[in-house]
Amino acid sequence: MRIACDVHVHLWDANDREHIDESFIKELRDVSGRDGTLNVDLQQFSNHYANVDKVVVFGGMARHTGLHVPNQFIHDFVQSSDIGGKLIPFVGIDPYDDNYMDEFERAVDDWGFRGVKLMPMYANFDPRDELLAPLYEACERRGLPILIHMGTTFCRCAPLNFAEPMMLEPVALKYPDLKMIVAHMGHPFENQTVVLIRKQPNIYSDLSALHYRPWQLFNSMMLAQEYGVTHKLLFGTDYPFTMPDESMVKLREIMRFSFGAGSNMPHLNPAWMEDVFARDTVSLLGLV
Ligand SMILES: [Zn+2]
Repeated sequence: MRIACDVHVHLWDANDREHIDESFIKELRDVSGRDGTLNVDLQQFSNHYANVDKVVVFGGMARHTGLHVPNQFIHDFVQSSDIGGKLIPFVGIDPYDDNYMDEFERAVDDWGFRGVKLMPMYANFDPRDELLAPLYEACERRGLPILIHMGTTFCRCAPLNFAEPMMLEPVALKYPDLKMIVAHMGHPFENQTVVLIRKQPNIYSDLSALHYRPWQLFNSMMLAQEYGVTHKLLFGTDYPFTMPDESMVKLREIMRFSFGAGSNMPHLNPAWMEDVFARDTVSLLGLV
C-alpha cells in the first residue's frame, strides 16, 4: 500500500557541523543511543520515498541547540532531487534570527516554499511570544501551515517549559484560520494534543517518531479514538530517524495489540489507521 503524504521529513548534511553541531550529535548518541549516522543521501532518499506520493521536507533552525540547516540547502536539495516534484518544502525559522521575516519571504516568494517549521523547545522560545506575531499573521493571511515541534527532546539545554502542546491554544484563538500541526503528538503530552485538536478546527497532529514507545503510543491511539479525533491525525516519520515503510509497519502493529482471546478490554480499530496512511494531507493543509 502507498502512503499519500509524509508530513515530517528532515533534510540536512549531518557531516556538516554548520547544519548540526557536535554537542547535538553527542547528546543524541548519549541519550538515545543513536550513532549519529543520520546523513540524507540524495539517491537513497529517492528510494526510501518510492512508496510515498507527497513529502513535506525541511531542515531545522534552532541555534540554541546547535541546529542550523540553511533553507538554501533545502531549496537546492529539492531542485536536484529526481523526485523533486513530490517534495513540498517548509521554511525553517528561528525567531531569534535578525530579520527572520526576510528569510521567510525569500523562501516563500522566491523559492515557492509552502509552509513553516518551528522548534520552540530546541530554539528556546515560547510559541505564544509576540516575537512570532509577524510570522503567524503572514501564515494565516497567506494560508501557509506551520508544523511545530511540541513535546520533549533529548537536548539538555532545551527547556521542557516550552514543550506542552496546550501552549498553542492562545495562538489558535488569536489566529483562528492559521493551520498548525503539532509534531509527534507532543509526546509525552499526547493527552493535551488530543483535546487541543478536538476543539481547535485548524490544528492537526502528526504521528511521527512515536512507535519507539509502543505502550505509550497504544494509549495515545486509544485516547484519540475515544475522543473521536482520528481524522485530525497525519502520517509522518521524522526521517531520517525512521523510514516511511518501517513507520507504517510499526503503526499497524500497535493497532493490533490485544489483551488476548476473551478479553473485554477496549481495543483499537485498525481501519482508521489505514485512513491515516491514505489521508490527503496536501489538500487538508491547502498545500496544492
Ligand atoms: Zn522532527
